[in-house]
Amino acid sequence: MPGTLVFLEHHEGELVKSSLGVLSKAAALGGDVAGVVAGSSVRDLAGQAGEYGASRVYVADDPALEAPLPQPRVDVLAALVRDKGFDTVLFGQSVLAADLASGLAARLDAGLNWDLTDIALEDGKLVGKRPALTDSVLVDVGWKSTPRLALFRTGSFEPAATGGNAELEDVAVQLEAHSTGAVMLEQAHEERSGPSIEDADVIVAGGRGLGKPEGFGMIEELAKALGGAVGATRAVVDAGWYPYPTQVGQTGKTVSPKLYIACGISGAIQHKVGMQGSGTIVAINKDPNAPIFEFCDIGVVGDVNEVVPKLTELVRARKA
Ligand SMILES: Cc1cc2nc3c(=O)[nH]c(=O)nc-3n(C[C@H](O)[C@H](O)[C@H](O)COP(=O)(O)OP(=O)(O)OC[C@H]3O[C@@H](n4cnc5c(N)ncnc54)[C@H](O)[C@@H]3O)c2cc1C
Repeated sequence: MPGTLVFLEHHEGELVKSSLGVLSKAAALGGDVAGVVAGSSVRDLAGQAGEYGASRVYVADDPALEAPLPQPRVDVLAALVRDKGFDTVLFGQSVLAADLASGLAARLDAGLNWDLTDIALEDGKLVGKRPALTDSVLVDVGWKSTPRLALFRTGSFEPAATGGNAELEDVAVQLEAHSTGAVMLEQAHEERSGPSIEDADVIVAGGRGLGKPEGFGMIEELAKALGGAVGATRAVVDAGWYPYPTQVGQTGKTVSPKLYIACGISGAIQHKVGMQGSGTIVAINKDPNAPIFEFCDIGVVGDVNEVVPKLTELVRARKA
């Protein structure tokens, strides 16, 4: 895969898992793969990317890049692509990456394929794989010109630490006047003790079958015992039972943890498309005819109020 650049997003002092996964995938396809880290005091972070397959990491380190705003990063990536001649630029899905990828596509007049779940070299050509028709088919997508830009769904690839070293190269940060128009006035951080829903290996999700908002207490307990994150259906976030960022599904997040435990969730198609890529799906539902039993790996017909606390107890006992 010649001339590939991967945008390495960072959050709270760490490179995020989805962009490391994209980097590992690009490296596995072969060729020369570079990464770019943009931010303030990010040089140490950049070095970590070598482990995941980057031969070189461009470091754009400038206080002007401290806030996670897309336009200054468009300037950095556009200059890199022009100066170094990258023909492919890859991103792992996030709000910032989506804004950046679309801004870069406009700036470079380049084609962007988004929502991809895989990429392959077929007869020497790059082919993106994109789920369509509510994820019932996988279509091949391509690019008519270079640079080719691609944005991948969260969890499409696992980061693979191969133990390499990346050369670091500082890049000059020159921002366009119009790129500095937006300023970050305030940043709120969600209080969280476990992993984020995007990064978690285990997600315990709750639906309307929990009966009331307080039902999420036992979901949190189970998630904590398993070291996982909490997810929710749209029905419950719309009802104000749990925060919107936890919504999984068509209009929420697409997740693919190793284990997804659906508690009191019917398994509507709009929920299914957001979690069907999970490794093992466990469903707990009192209705044996609930649609979720048609696509889960392990189904428990029972009341969540009885099954979930017992499961938490068992997990805790095992861990002890
Ligand atoms: C355009 C559009 C986009 C949408 N996007 C999304 C999306 O992104 N994400 C999403 O989740 N939904 C989405 N929806 C909504 C979706 O269609 C469903 O309405 C929703 O997923 C249902 O949520 P639920 O499973 O929590 O509730 P329900 O469908 O009401 O299911 C509750 C389940 O709990 C079970 N139950 C009840 N009591 C118990 C108990 N004590 N113990 C065990 N089981 C129990 C019931 O048998 C039932 O199966 C979207 C809909 C539309 C039209």
